[in-house]
Amino acid sequence: MIGQRDRPAERVAEHHGAGRGMQRIGYPIGICRTTVARRELVTPRMLRLTLTGDELAGFHSYVADDHVKIVFPHADGTRTDPVPNDQQLLDWPKPLPPTRTYTIRRVDLAAREVDLDFVLHSGGLAGDWAEAAAIGDPAVIAGPPGAKAFAHTHRHYVLAVDVTGLPAVARWLDEADWLEAAGATAQVLVEHDHEDETGYPLQQRAGVEVRWLSRAEGSQLGAQVRALDVPDDTFVFGAGEAEDLKDVRRWVAQRDLPASITGYWKRGVAGLDD
Ligand SMILES: Cc1cc2nc3c(=O)[nH]c(=O)nc-3n(C[C@H](O)[C@H](O)[C@H](O)COP(=O)(O)OP(=O)(O)OC[C@H]3O[C@@H](n4cnc5c(N)ncnc54)[C@H](O)[C@@H]3O)c2cc1C
Repeated sequence: MIGQRDRPAERVAEHHGAGRGMQRIGYPIGICRTTVARRELVTPRMLRLTLTGDELAGFHSYVADDHVKIVFPHADGTRTDPVPNDQQLLDWPKPLPPTRTYTIRRVDLAAREVDLDFVLHSGGLAGDWAEAAAIGDPAVIAGPPGAKAFAHTHRHYVLAVDVTGLPAVARWLDEADWLEAAGATAQVLVEHDHEDETGYPLQQRAGVEVRWLSRAEGSQLGAQVRALDVPDDTFVFGAGEAEDLKDVRRWVAQRDLPASITGYWKRGVAGLDD
């Protein structure tokens, strides 16, 4: 019998190739003690940290929006990191250490590296940590817990995100050779608060249209998604500020479209979901 978390790469590939819609596929969940190897400002407001360490040898990541929790010390500076158990899960200590969730923008197992891209905003535990992080600083990452794999069998894809969803969209485009081969198309809508965020590099692909939307006068994401003319066989990926995604969720429900929509953060709330 195949355990719930066995063969994750194969099960993701099977769903990508022959499935429909989104399927959750669990990974063996581990913890990696890494250090910061490189820092790069991808845009003036998006900082990439490359993390490295031998514990990344057994890291699992097979889909574009895979994410990890960065585990931070408690307020008094002490560490209580989660511990892997024999169920391929983590036992978390009580009280829980502070954590924040970030997308695996790139993984290179041979080099034992992962990239995380941080939106720089003031007053956040993770954002401020990343901004101050020096080469050689420790970074403990837990996960990813598993894939929300969405099939490669749809005719059209809509990716509606704000800048926190850019790492997932960028990785999806990097890994989307199948898209052109399948003759599928995609519309990417990215909402941003600052013009210089539009410099974030996205791989260009035939059949993929990218539009940048300014949030200066309030979120337009829902209205712009509603105005799209999409075929019935459309899959929708949404990620960003939780309130701004509500209208996208309503449209998806009305159209009865397969979707994976996740509030990545919420205005005024620290550590949403962490
Ligand atoms: C599955 C998943 C994947 C994610 N991937 C990424 C990623 O790759 N890159 C990324 O930057 N974020 C990503 N996020 C969002 C990130 O986890 C949150 O933005 C998180 O709150 C940041 O933590 P913080 O400690 O910096 O701020 P917090 O301490 O959580 O929040 C402090 C204050 O800052 C505000 N705030 C939080 N995030 C933002 C923001 N982006 N812009 C403006 N204000 C903000 C909060 O509303 C709060 O008022 C992801 C979230 C999820 C659930």
